[in-house]
Amino acid sequence: MEELGDLRTAVSEAVTNAIVHAYPDSIGRIAMRLRILNGSTLEISVRDWGRGIEDVERAMQPLYTSGGEERSGMGFTIMGSFTDKLRVRSRPGKGTTITMLKTISPRVQHR
Ligand code: ATP
Ligand code: MG
Repeated sequence: MEELGDLRTAVSEAVTNAIVHAYPDSIGRIAMRLRILNGSTLEISVRDWGRGIEDVERAMQPLYTSGGEERSGMGFTIMGSFTDKLRVRSRPGKGTTITMLKTISPRVQHR
C-alpha cells in the first residue's frame, strides 16, 4: 500500500505538469502508458505534445520552477524520489515524455 501511495503521488506530479506547463493556456492531449517489465518492474510514461522544456537538467533541479507563487518546483524531485528511475525527454515546441520505473515487491501469500 505504501508503494501504491508513492506511485500515485509520482503520477499525479507528472500529469499535473502536463496540464499546467505543457498546455499553459489550452486543453491538450496527454497519454499515459503502463507496462510491466520482467514481471516485477512497473514502467509508467506520461507524454504530452505541448510546449516542451528548453533545459531539462535545469528544470529537474529541486526548487526550479517557471511557474509563479503557487508552484514550489518540487515535482521532478518527488517523481525521482518516489520511483527507482526517472527519465525525461523533451523537445521545445514538440512535447515531453517522462518515464518512471519502479520495482514492485511481490504480494505476501495469505491463506
Ligand atoms: P510543483 O510541481 O512543485 O508544483 P513545478 O511544476 O514548477 O512546481 P516541477 O514539477 O519540478 O516543478 O517542474 C519544473 C519545471 O519544469 C516547471 O516549472 C516547468 O518549467 C518545467 N516542466 C515540467 N513538466 C513540463 C511539461 N510537461 N511541459 C513543459 N514544461 C514542463
Ligand atoms: Mg510540477
